[in-house]
Amino acid sequence: MPGVWTLAEFRDGEINSVSYELLAWGRSLADALNVELSSVIIGYEISKVASLFDHGADIVYKVDDKRVEHFLPDVYSNILLSLVREYDPQIIIASATTYGRTVMPILSTKLNTGLTADCTKLEIKDGTLLQTRPAIGGNVMATIRTQTKPQMATVRPRSKKTILYDKSQRKVVIPKIEDKLFKSAYRWINFEKDQSTDLPIQEAEVVVSGGRGMKDGKNFEMLYELAKKLNGVVGSSRAAVDMGWIPYSHQVGLSGKTVSPHLYMAFGISGAVQHIAGMSSSDIVVAVNTDPDAPIFNVADFGIIGDATEILPELLKALGDEDE
Ligand code: FAD
Repeated sequence: MPGVWTLAEFRDGEINSVSYELLAWGRSLADALNVELSSVIIGYEISKVASLFDHGADIVYKVDDKRVEHFLPDVYSNILLSLVREYDPQIIIASATTYGRTVMPILSTKLNTGLTADCTKLEIKDGTLLQTRPAIGGNVMATIRTQTKPQMATVRPRSKKTILYDKSQRKVVIPKIEDKLFKSAYRWINFEKDQSTDLPIQEAEVVVSGGRGMKDGKNFEMLYELAKKLNGVVGSSRAAVDMGWIPYSHQVGLSGKTVSPHLYMAFGISGAVQHIAGMSSSDIVVAVNTDPDAPIFNVADFGIIGDATEILPELLKALGDEDE
């Protein structure tokens, strides 16, 4: 019976954690449809496949070949296309990472089917997939049902907590891939890591964000200091990025990154829907804003009405010196 597929990601000898989040999404869909959940992984010297079963997969399709050591969009999508044609999944989901955002459009075009990008919610109704995502600048949530099969969607990283699963069939399928599918028009040169932050903001357990209310880029120094004390990273609103106070890689929100830390602190951020879209799954939200009616307080667990540039020095003082 056609099942649900997730596209796992493998790089530098590691399975990317987004692969497990996808399995959490996929598990709920597969259970609702009463079908198997499979994960497709492509790479070289792939290890720790068992962890995919531990996080929800029944079946793993593994393509382990030196020729796919590095991500080549045409080769990866050719391989995926041949697998989809052979095994006929009903639903395919990928993460809205560089990988998912690259292969899914190629795949959906070749399959002549629809694709809904950047979903925040996936559910099954009447045996088909309903895909919900922000639309019209984030002002409405649109629910989309594609009529063609397979139904395809990408979901934002960190939009779902991972699960542990112990009913897996643990079946590994090693498909035979034709040699001609490995021919690429691309030549892999190098992979350059973003050096602007040590820990990717999506993976941080503490995110300390600043917005226009920080008044000046220099005041972000206090956020860096606070983040250091709390073992976190600095995030921002789009307004702060637009002002040139912080690089885009720190932007949280609809057109930035989605974070789901244990603690999210928002200093001088109004709480526009586009910002909330990127941090609403945080466990604890603390907001500091001079305006008691700022929408950020609607999603905050703790709110402080006051000037962020006055509260931050006090907070840093209260937390004490590193050397103390
Ligand atoms: P403002 O809205 O100007 O808010 C500043 C806040 O600071 C106010 O609430 C004010 O009361 C408070 N304040 C002022 N002074 C102080 C002070 N001294 N101390 C404490 N508080 C103070 N935005 C994002 O953040 N992320 C996105 O990914 C994103 N994507 C977008 C995509 C689209 C398609 C569109 C249309 C918009 C997007 N936006 C995004 C922009 C979004 O709509 C808001 O404009 C933006 O989030 C506002 O940033 P801000 O809260 O820093 O600034």
